[in-house]
Amino acid sequence: SAHSVGFIGLGNMGASMASNLLSDGVSLKAFDLNKSVVEDLASKGASVTDKVEDMVDCETIITMLPSSPHVQGTVETLLSAGWSGKTWIDSSTIDPIISKSLGEALEAEGKGKIDAPVSGGVKGAAAGTLTFMVGGASSTLESVRPYLSVMGSNIVHCGSNGSGQTAKLCNNLAMAIQMVGTAEALNMGDSLGLDPKILAGIMNTSTSRCWSSDSYNPYPGVLDGVPASNNYEGGFGSSLMLKDLGLATSAAGAVKSATPLGNATKEIYTMMESMEMGGKDFGAVLQFLKGNCGN
Ligand code: NAD
Repeated sequence: SAHSVGFIGLGNMGASMASNLLSDGVSLKAFDLNKSVVEDLASKGASVTDKVEDMVDCETIITMLPSSPHVQGTVETLLSAGWSGKTWIDSSTIDPIISKSLGEALEAEGKGKIDAPVSGGVKGAAAGTLTFMVGGASSTLESVRPYLSVMGSNIVHCGSNGSGQTAKLCNNLAMAIQMVGTAEALNMGDSLGLDPKILAGIMNTSTSRCWSSDSYNPYPGVLDGVPASNNYEGGFGSSLMLKDLGLATSAAGAVKSATPLGNATKEIYTMMESMEMGGKDFGAVLQFLKGNCGN
């Protein structure tokens, strides 16, 4: 029987987003390459499948996959399998230029598509308070707004197809640069003998205040309940930040927009990856600057 929503990609973010739709009574079919996350969702009442082609009868498809190739492959597979649905919502963070071309391919088949990447992290996904940055036609956004409202509390229409991805990548570019800057200053103060809590307090009431300092401080013990105070576990992995910096600098390069600090920041996260710090929260750049590269 037909399902309203086919949800593809049940990882750290997608599993919670799909659960919130189920709790709201949405008829949902779920798929992921990882069978154990599919079983978890089945236990919450989802219809599940072990073949993505079984999504052909879903009216709306939502993808929450790692990056561009995964989304591209899924769109191609479902279009060639004769997907009969109407609207595709891609909430993964992917290349804006690829996102735009996927939108054009879907529109050529008479389908609607919005890019709707999110911010708010795993906490926001679980609480249903994500921010959606939406690119695409207003009419397409309005047709699926009820689903987005279940998963998020803030829906911003950024412009045409692909512009949601551009907004997401610009945000993460600035966030990564601010994190490295904050870590560099905290480490310098610490090396010169200044108490990191005192320095963080000064920064948070002075002109260097930013989210990486006042809400997500990378120095262990400055804030409770952040990854830095939990051995950099949970949170937003350095590997995912590296992926986003790769997407951001490549999209910027395609339009000759200079990203000197983005490039330097990407190199720092590449070094962290090669030192096996990719699984740590991106605030672990502070330990990298200290030369603590072990796990
Ligand atoms: P994740 O790695 O936890 O989940 C991805 C899921 O996709 C996995 O379960 C994997 O098995 C599945 N998958 C991979 N290829 C597949 C395929 N071809 N078909 C079906 N399933 C497939 O990642 P996540 O943290 O949930 O992030 C998903 C997206 O959201 C990424 O683009 C990420 O950048 C973005 N994002 C993440 C966060 C965060 O805090 N984790 C915040 C905002 C945005």
